[in-house]
Amino acid sequence: MLIAGGGLAGACAAFCLSRSGRSVRLLEATGEPGAGASGAAAGSVNPLMGRRARPTWRLADALDALRWITREAGAEATFDETGVLRPARSREQAGVFREAAGEHPDRARWLAPGAAAERFSAVETPHGALWIEGGGAADVPALIDALLEAARRHGATVETGARVTGWQERGGGVAARVERAEGRADLPAGRLLLCVGLGHAALGALAPLDLRAVKGQTLRLRRPPALEGEWLPVLSGNGYVVPQPDGTLRAGSTYEHDARHLRPTDEGRQYILGNVSQMLPPLAEAEVLEARAGARVSPPGSPLPALGPLPGGEANAGEERVWVFGALGSRGLLTAPLLARALPSLLDAPARIPEAVRARAA
Ligand SMILES: Cc1cc2nc3c(=O)[nH]c(=O)nc-3n(C[C@H](O)[C@H](O)[C@H](O)COP(=O)(O)OP(=O)(O)OC[C@H]3O[C@@H](n4cnc5c(N)ncnc54)[C@H](O)[C@@H]3O)c2cc1C
Repeated sequence: MLIAGGGLAGACAAFCLSRSGRSVRLLEATGEPGAGASGAAAGSVNPLMGRRARPTWRLADALDALRWITREAGAEATFDETGVLRPARSREQAGVFREAAGEHPDRARWLAPGAAAERFSAVETPHGALWIEGGGAADVPALIDALLEAARRHGATVETGARVTGWQERGGGVAARVERAEGRADLPAGRLLLCVGLGHAALGALAPLDLRAVKGQTLRLRRPPALEGEWLPVLSGNGYVVPQPDGTLRAGSTYEHDARHLRPTDEGRQYILGNVSQMLPPLAEAEVLEARAGARVSPPGSPLPALGPLPGGEANAGEERVWVFGALGSRGLLTAPLLARALPSLLDAPARIPEAVRARAA
């Protein structure tokens, strides 16, 4: 099995497939795995996302898969299940959150303004807040490193500086065209799994999926003195703030639909700091240690990923040679481990891919 792409999707797939006994070779186009959207991700694992705080797709299984994959890869420290606090942004949203807490008492609790201020004194919660158990903060680059290291222990190889630019299906297999600094080569494999994130735009065969991209920027912030030693959960309200294991805070994000490039900008920095300082006022003057930007890739009109044989192929079911796994949108942590865990069996039984995430031509 050849995997193209060493982001969250490729790393989860490489780990799960090699663990199930498959021979795995992962090719990453850049010099370092996790350099794409995964390197910009804030690492928030928010079970009740969106304005209405609804449970994400297959939430219980998704959280279970994230816990499972970190445990199996020996990377428990990369996921801190601290919980998520969602300060309401208005009285109207407070009403919506109160309802959400009533609908999901096993997952969330409504905190009125007084109770929220008492429990989270550093956080501005004038309209109250929704307290969500079960989510938290993941260190995405560290998780990718750990997954690839564990995949290597299961026999996988990982090569950087190797870009898949095309392929040809040949009798029972596929030959992937690969460009490296030293030249081009055709690599034969039983199957090719494309986990290329924004790299879809350079592969014409993925055009029928009509994937969309939204640029996002995140900042790594040094904790201002006023927040030093302060216990903080993940905050999601005016933007989000995700505590990192090294004590810094990752703050996000912008949502840029017509971006011309993927570099961080000063405008983005100001926007993010303006937003998150409404939740944590000392962040207005926080020192920015690093700014990253990436693209959230999604199928049109869906927040769910795309998995399965490349649409439009003529092979019989179960014999398709080229698969796609990606378009993880803005919640890869709650979808990639879940789908990767099922991948070893889905490869032989594609009819069992859940309809909601089946890769399809738009
Ligand atoms: C600003 C921002 C904040 C985010 N915050 C969160 C968050 O808090 N929580 C969350 O769950 N999700 C978050 N996400 C979403 C998350 O980052 C993505 O869902 C996930 O990381 C995407 O992983 P991926 O492997 O599909 O893509 P990528 O990480 O982009 O990986 C694709 C890889 O493929 C490589 N590649 C491309 N083309 C080729 C080729 N032809 N051959 C070989 N390799 C190739 C690229 O170099 C890259 O390394 C965020 C995204 C952004 C942009």
